[in-house]
Amino acid sequence: MSNVDFSNDYRILHKNLQNLIKSGDFDVHFYGKSFYGDDLVAFHKGKYTGKQFLITGGIHAREYISSFVVMKLLKDYDLPYGCFFVPLLNPDGANICLNGLKGVSEEYKPLLTRLNNYSTDFSLWKANGRGVDLNVNFPALWGKGKMNVSLPASENYIGESALSEIENSSLLKFIKRFDFEMSVAYHSKGEVVYYGFCGASKEIKSKSKQLANKIAKILKYKPIISKNSVGGLSDYLCLQNIPSVTIELGSDLLKHPIRYDNFDIIYKNQYIALKKVFKEIRND
Ligand SMILES: [Zn+2]
Repeated sequence: MSNVDFSNDYRILHKNLQNLIKSGDFDVHFYGKSFYGDDLVAFHKGKYTGKQFLITGGIHAREYISSFVVMKLLKDYDLPYGCFFVPLLNPDGANICLNGLKGVSEEYKPLLTRLNNYSTDFSLWKANGRGVDLNVNFPALWGKGKMNVSLPASENYIGESALSEIENSSLLKFIKRFDFEMSVAYHSKGEVVYYGFCGASKEIKSKSKQLANKIAKILKYKPIISKNSVGGLSDYLCLQNIPSVTIELGSDLLKHPIRYDNFDIIYKNQYIALKKVFKEIRND
C-alpha cells in the first residue's frame, strides 16, 4: 500500500455523499449503477423548467478532490436556475484510488494488480474498475487522441468502443432527458481552465472561451485552449452544442491525489466564479 493513509478521505467522501442523499434538501436522481454496483447519483437544485446547468466531478479516480468541490457547490448553490450536480462520475475508480483492492471483487483483483504493475499502491489510479479511462470513452472523435491507449490500463485506455462503460452510458441516457445551457467539469490539477474542445463549432468554441476567461480571471487560473482533447465529457457536450469548460483544481505543486486537507484553499472562490458566470448567462 501507499505509505499515505487515505482512509480518512474515503470515509469523508462517502459520509458526505450519504448525507447529501439523506438530507432532503435537493432532488436526488439515481441514474444507474457502476460496474461494481455502486449507485450513480446526480443532485438537482432550482427549477426544472428552461435550460439547465451541469456540474460534474470525480471522473478521474485520483482527482476525487473535485467530488468534494462539486458537493460543496451543491450546498452553496442559491440561484433559481435549474442545475444538476454529479459529484462522483467514477465511484469504482475513487474506491480503488483510496482503498486499493479492498472492496474489489475477487474476480477483478488479478486484472487490476497487473494493470497497476503489481504494485499495491493504487493512489495514482485514474480509470474505472475495468481499466477504462472514462474521460476518453465518450463519442466525441473517440480513439483519435494522441495519448489514447488500446488496452486496459490505469489511465488513457479508451475502452472497447465509445460508451462501452456503464458509468458513461448511464450518464448520457440520464442527461439526454434535459436541455443544457452550459457545463463545467472539475478535474485536478494545475489551476487552469480548458475550453475549445476538438470538433466543436466556432460558435461553441467562442462561447466556451468567454466563459473560461471569466472563470479563470476570478480564480486566478490560466485559460487554455484544449487543442488535442477528444473523447472527454466536455468534448462530447461541446459537440452537442453545449458550451463547456474543464477546471483543473489546485496548484501543480500539490501531489496527486490532492488530499481533503487542502479543500479550503482549493474551494476558495469556486462558487463565486460559477455564480458570476451563471448570472451573466441568464441576463444575456
Ligand atoms: Zn482529470
